Formats: sequence, structure tokens, C-alpha cells
Amino acid sequence: MPARAALLVLNAGSSSLKFAAYTLESAIPRERIAGQVEGIGAHARFTAHDATGTSLATETLPEPATHAAAVAAVIGLLERSLAAARVIAVGHRVVHGGPRHAAPAQIDTQLLADLQSLIPLAPLHQPHNLAGIDAAMAHFPDVPHIACFDTAFHRTQPWEAETFALPPHFYEQGIRRYGFHGLSYEFIARTLAAQHPDLAAGRVIAAHLGNGASLCAIQAGRSIATTMGFTALDGIPMGTRTGSIDPGVILHLLGTMGMPLAEVTRLLYSGSGLKGMSGISQDVREIEAAGTEQASRALSHFAWRVRREIGALAATLGGLDALVFTAGIGEHSARLRAAICENLAFLGITLDPARNAANAPTISNGTTPVLVRHTDEERMMALHVLEVLAA
Ligand code: ADP
Repeated sequence: MPARAALLVLNAGSSSLKFAAYTLESAIPRERIAGQVEGIGAHARFTAHDATGTSLATETLPEPATHAAAVAAVIGLLERSLAAARVIAVGHRVVHGGPRHAAPAQIDTQLLADLQSLIPLAPLHQPHNLAGIDAAMAHFPDVPHIACFDTAFHRTQPWEAETFALPPHFYEQGIRRYGFHGLSYEFIARTLAAQHPDLAAGRVIAAHLGNGASLCAIQAGRSIATTMGFTALDGIPMGTRTGSIDPGVILHLLGTMGMPLAEVTRLLYSGSGLKGMSGISQDVREIEAAGTEQASRALSHFAWRVRREIGALAATLGGLDALVFTAGIGEHSARLRAAICENLAFLGITLDPARNAANAPTISNGTTPVLVRHTDEERMMALHVLEVLAA
């Protein structure tokens, strides 16, 4: 019997490697195995499950585990659990595609050099994405490897949305608003197009509220504005990141207060946001459960900032036909969704408390639908891999 074709998608972060493997059933990717290696560089733990949620692996990798060791663990599992399938292509999440890449692309020497040159634009993510690509290419030298960019979906933004108010040569040097979470927004846009083509053809705001968080204004399926910018630090507050902050504060920290650059970087990326404000955790479940004054202030500031961005993005769209919540907080925190949607009746948004509490697919009872949808960046990558193969 010929081996069944399989796709592998990898999402390599600084200390983690997430993966999903699909077999192709009539050209539709069917998820078979998914999981992750966490703690790369130190005590790495490998967990994986099949499509029913049954655990397939819970292992500790020998220290210090590298991205290559993590990829080897994933491939070992595929060989054990999907023995009758043959990997025909590998998709890689790449955080930065720079100004040129508006679509997924097959990785060759030229593209690799291009992606290396973008490291200064995403020093905290891009090198790890490239380490994952190197490791997977060494294991699968003969199959196509496809780069799927988190920035690509936003390359439809108009110039006004992409530029900063700097002299134009900075824009030419690549200092512009790229936007991220593109794979998630594209998945949401496609889901909406399949389920509600009328809404998808109109003006939609998608709120991807996870550990990293952003919002995107989508007009007829295309991104026209998003809250993240040159880096994934911009926009709304996140688990540990500030989101937008008056740049004067940063000048003050560095100049007047003499804080070292490394300390300011740590503060903005990992010491702020919900964790820094609440003093408890970056996890909304723990902050909601804490019930302290500081915890509820952190949540209400978060909701206020998201609400403000919804108003701003609705203005860029010239109105609103649907609001979609997604990712961990967006899909599960009824309390934050309710807080965010307070005062949005002027946009036709009012929530049905019972449906909101139940995380129902539609949680509104006003004229503008408010939807809750699961996002699946790995599936989006698998679909991209198939599209590139078909092309
Ligand atoms: P990532 O950006 O790491 O992929 P997720 O999209 O999984 O993150 O979102 C993670 C966040 O979602 C958690 O930190 C937590 O704050 C939030 N979350 C998950 N489940 C719930 C829940 N039941 N109630 C409230 N918040 C939740």
C-alpha cells in the first residue's frame, strides 16, 4: 500500500517548538498529531496528543535541548505514530516577512538569506524561527519547506496605516508598521467567509486576545489596519508586554532615570502588561480569581484599551459589521468580553449575558453581531503549504 501523504507544520519560538501533523484526505488536511516542546535551552518537556486528545508523549529531553533536538523528538514521534504516512512538505511559521513578502513562499537559499537579513527587525523571534527551519531541513532535505509569515496578511494595509510620522527615508529603511498575528487573522477571515459570507464581505474587527494580543480591521477579507506595528510590542497591553506607551516614557527611563537598555527591554516585553499591572500573573484566569483591587484594575485597564482600539479601528473601516473575539482570552473570558463591549452600543454592540457567559458562537443581541471563534494558526499554515504546493 503506498504511504499516505502528510504535512508537518512547525512554529519555533525562543524556548518552544509547537507542531501539528496532518494527513491529506481528498486534499483536505486532517489533523492527526499535535503538541509542543517547551523549555528549549533548559529542561525541555515534550508533550503530544492525537486528534481525540489522547496523550502520545510526555517526555523530558536530555539537557540542554536545542531546536534540533526538539525537531528530532517530533520526527521520532511521527515515525512511531504515523508510520504509514510520508511527510511531503513542511510549513514553518516565520514571524517576519519584511516589506516584500505578502504571501507564503517556498524556502530556498535566496529566501533564507532574506529572512536572515530581517533578524534586526525581530531579534527575539526570527533567529528561533530560522533555527527550526535549519533543523527541519536537515531532517527532510528532499521535501519543500514553506515559510508562512505572520506579517504577510497585513501587507494590504494602505500607506497611511503602515507609516510612522517620521521622515520618509525611515519608511524606506523598513521602519514601518508591519503588524503580526496574520495567520490567525487570515484563519478568522476565511472562517467568516465560509460561515457568514455577508459579514466577511463587509467591515470586521477581529480581536486576537492571547498571551500576545492585537486587533485587526478587516475590510472584505483584507487587513487595512492593525494594532501591532514595527514590533509585537505595540498596541494593546498583553500578558507581559506594555503595548503602546508614550515614547517619551522610554526616553525618560533611558535618559533621565539612566535605566540600562537591557532592563528597559525586559520591562517592556516581560515585566509589564497584565502580569506587571496585577502583580499576580499573566494568566487572566488567575487574575480573575485573585479578586484584589490591583487585579481588577489591571483587567479594567486592559478592557479600556481594547475598547479604545475597537473605536479607532471602526473609524478606519467607516463603520462595523461584525466583531470577532478569538485566542485564549477572546474565546474564554466572558468577564473581559463584557467589560470590553461596555459603551460600544454606539457601534450596534450589546451582549447577551447568558450567551456571553456560555462562550456561545454569537454572544450579541444588538444590530452588530459579536462572534466568538476558535483560531487555528497551524491549520492556516497547513492550508498555505497546500496552496504553495498546488501553485
Ligand atoms: P498564546 O498567545 O500563548 O497562544 P492563548 O491564545 O492560548 O495564548 O491564550 C492564553 C491566555 O488565554 C492565557 O494566558 C489566559 O490568560 C487566557 N485564558 C485561557 N483560558 C481562559 C479562561 N478559561 N478564562 C480566562 N482566560 C483564559
